[in-house]
Amino acid sequence: MSSIIQLLPDHVANQIAAGEVVQRPASVVKELLENAVDAKATDIKLIIKDAGKSLVQVIDNGLGMSVTDARLCFERHATSKIRQAEDLFSLCTKGFRGEALASIAAIAHMEMKTKQDQEELGTHIVIEGSKFVSQEVAVLPKGTSFAVKNLFFNIPARRNFLKSDTVEFRHVMDEFQRVALAHPNIHFTFYHNGSELYNLPIAGYRQRIVGIMSGKTNEKLVPVNEDTEIINVQGFVSKPEFAKKNRGEQFFFVNDRFIKSGYLHHAVMAAYDGLLKDGCQPSYFLYLQVPPNTIDINIHPTKTEIKFDDEQALYAILRASIKHSLGQFNVSPVLDFDRDANLDTPYYYKDLEAETPTIQVDGTFNPFTDDKTNQHYSKSGSGSSSGGSNSGSGSYSGYSKRVEPAVSWESLYVGLETDTIESSPFTFENEEVTSSLFNDDEVEQANKKTYQIHKKYIVSPIKSGMIIVDQHRAHQRILYEQFLLNMTVNQASSQQLLFPLNLFYSSSEMALIEELKPSLETTGFVFDGAEADHIVISGIPVNITESEVSLVIEQLLSDLQDGIPASSYSQNDTIAKSMAKSLAVKTGSYLTEKEQDNLVNGLFACKDPNISPFQKPTFITMRVEDIDKKFAL
Ligand code: ADP
Ligand code: MG
Repeated sequence: MSSIIQLLPDHVANQIAAGEVVQRPASVVKELLENAVDAKATDIKLIIKDAGKSLVQVIDNGLGMSVTDARLCFERHATSKIRQAEDLFSLCTKGFRGEALASIAAIAHMEMKTKQDQEELGTHIVIEGSKFVSQEVAVLPKGTSFAVKNLFFNIPARRNFLKSDTVEFRHVMDEFQRVALAHPNIHFTFYHNGSELYNLPIAGYRQRIVGIMSGKTNEKLVPVNEDTEIINVQGFVSKPEFAKKNRGEQFFFVNDRFIKSGYLHHAVMAAYDGLLKDGCQPSYFLYLQVPPNTIDINIHPTKTEIKFDDEQALYAILRASIKHSLGQFNVSPVLDFDRDANLDTPYYYKDLEAETPTIQVDGTFNPFTDDKTNQHYSKSGSGSSSGGSNSGSGSYSGYSKRVEPAVSWESLYVGLETDTIESSPFTFENEEVTSSLFNDDEVEQANKKTYQIHKKYIVSPIKSGMIIVDQHRAHQRILYEQFLLNMTVNQASSQQLLFPLNLFYSSSEMALIEELKPSLETTGFVFDGAEADHIVISGIPVNITESEVSLVIEQLLSDLQDGIPASSYSQNDTIAKSMAKSLAVKTGSYLTEKEQDNLVNGLFACKDPNISPFQKPTFITMRVEDIDKKFAL
């Protein structure tokens, strides 16, 4: 049989390559704008018609091209930006593949005018479907103009595949905004069907962002600035109260190139943890500068995804610097995050520093004493008794062995004292019952401070009316803060098990647990030995029962399915949330009056009592006036 393999002619190869580079008019816009930026232009005009389907024109005042280069630039793999493979590691330009112009010329009618500053005359070239139609000498201003008409004229299938003008225009707009945001030192103008959409003078980042987004953006922005050896971060993030339901205004630029990164996005979201309403997204405009040899831009044809050498460090730096900015500009909530020298902000409360040593140390605790007096249900102001629950005001601890799981969750609130109420945002009602309408029994009834309704809510009168607490969420908040505090500030005590627990897991789960061990140990877990398929637990946190252990770990493994967060802060946070979720008293559980009291007091002793760790409200208030209004109907 005769041989059948042939080399494809250039114009066919270019058309195929165009499939990768040019998907739609917006791709042409991106390539031409980036070429103009690479040519060091200080003024760039973008002119489009019919969302770019009929015309995309980019006019720049950059370096221009010589006669030879003007011809060569349409060849595939023709580039002035790299000469050897090593140059890929020190890229400072947007382009480097030398493919864009060849690809675009293969699937459109293209006209180019270009002149270098030092030349008298420039070059005017017309090329259609990779064929040179004409080349002339012309009188031109300095710089280059590319006009791309009738995109996909020779590939009807691709042309038909284009979306409506509205959709294609949106894509063009996105590309324009990305380039214009990345280069505030360039004057950009943008015209669509003859009308001017943008005229953005040379400016700083803030002005450029405001120029592109809208006048109102200015008041929403908080600056971020961080300079470290491996990265410089500059830019702006929005104050949490301006968070939106969609992810519209989120931009990362790395070395002036717009990029997408789920990982860095996660770092930003972690900085906002606890500050956003459910499902809301902050805006951000973050400009990262890193040494070019620490990134690999080459992993995606459109170069919007890049690989960093030290992603984890970038994550930590980004999160910490944003968190710092939000804190500095007073937009953090009650929780006060402070910075650590290693930039990995730990969770601790500034104002707690002085109390730290006394909070949760219980020298006398004996987990084997099955003595009810160990469990401080008492709210009497006399402080801790024999069990030694040395609660400082506003804290609580649970140094009691839980014997009856069904009823003993309340031990988590032991040590709460009446005066903790004073730290709460509410003044509880002072119940001096003066009316003789009540007999003694009723007076006692009236002294009751909390009521449980539907085994779900705790209602309690306060001076201004009443509060209704969601028991499950409130308990989650209490446990969450308690675990975090133990993990970051104090070492938690643990209760030793008489018979160590053997729990079996798959090898991937074992690997996860292995990684989590150090954090789990800070919550009070004690691990014995290392086996291939199971863990041996000889000690557990004081506020867990033996029967809850496997549930807690199960939940943790499922919460960490997507991987363990890189920084220790997020790791602790995830573990604390997960354990709070597993252990919080459920809706449908009956609570004794004492338990209800402890729950309410415990909640208001928290640093951030208003929301659950999962950003849900923990309680609502009803003012007397509101109730009055209802009766007035
Ligand atoms: P790349 O940008 O990857 O080098 P392109 O196909 O986009 O590849 O461009 C090819 C070459 O044409 C560039 O390397 C550059 O030398 C030249 N060029 C393209 N656009 C311009 C422009 N606006 N001004 C000056 N030179 C340009
Ligand atoms: Mg290019």
